[in-house]
Amino acid sequence: MDLFDLSGSVAIVTGGNGGIGRGIALGLAEAGADVAIAARNEEKTATVVAEIKALGRRAVGIRCDVAKKTDIEAAVASTTANLGTPGILVANSGIALGTRPEALPEEDWDRVLDTNLKGVFLFSQAVYAGMKALGGGKIITIGSMYSIFGGAQSAPYGASKGGVVQLTRSLAVAWAPDNIQVNCILPGWIVTEMTGWGGRERRHFSERIVARTPAGRWGEAEELAGAGVFLASRASDFVTGISLPVDGGWAVMG
Ligand code: NDP
Repeated sequence: MDLFDLSGSVAIVTGGNGGIGRGIALGLAEAGADVAIAARNEEKTATVVAEIKALGRRAVGIRCDVAKKTDIEAAVASTTANLGTPGILVANSGIALGTRPEALPEEDWDRVLDTNLKGVFLFSQAVYAGMKALGGGKIITIGSMYSIFGGAQSAPYGASKGGVVQLTRSLAVAWAPDNIQVNCILPGWIVTEMTGWGGRERRHFSERIVARTPAGRWGEAEELAGAGVFLASRASDFVTGISLPVDGGWAVMG
């Protein structure tokens, strides 16, 4: 399907060195895109860069802390110099700290919001001029079921992910005249390092997730690739500002 063909496109995937970011990065590469992986852990990044190259695409790894504007600007410049102007951004990097709100240190609030929300905004801002010059682009943000629901230990995470949905809508409206589509993916419960600490290793919790998910299982990171390719490709040219759950039905379970 030509509509989904990403040949000749350049994508930046933040946090593409593991979990959901890796799943989407490999999907974009399989669809034909060259990919820059922007994250902090260079060893993990090198592994995914090699996986993308093995698919026959060009790839670079860039050390980047998305909470730092200078790192973001350097990552966009380095991607442009090495692969070309990015027409696709997947702003996927994120952290989750599980603490009840009454015990939450201010620094933890700032760290989560700076990474999960401000980082998405600054990265989007940094790619805007290049996308506009290309004649259009695709920005994909990553929300969560906590964009919709609350959690006793999720105050900063939920605030950041709710914010990502609203940021997505505002960027979509602002940049629609530039042919830049901005959409959000809302993953359900996906097997990654992030959910390993409090998820699958705590059997009770894991079983509750499975029981509440209509599909009756956790999702795999690779299962986000389909939505990623759709929202990165011409197939979604008239789709903007949406938040697409990829959750095995979690969000519609009564
Ligand atoms: P992982 O912990 O596996 O991946 C998180 C990624 O974010 C890593 O690649 C990490 O790379 C990167 N990252 C974290 N902090 C920074 C930073 N300051 N600068 C740059 N990169 C950073 O978790 P997931 O794959 O599960 O999470 C990916 C996204 O999906 C997150 O936004 C998360 O909130 C969201 N999500 C996950 C769900 C799940 O069930 N797994 C459900 C809903 C949403 P490095 O440490 O090398 O910087």
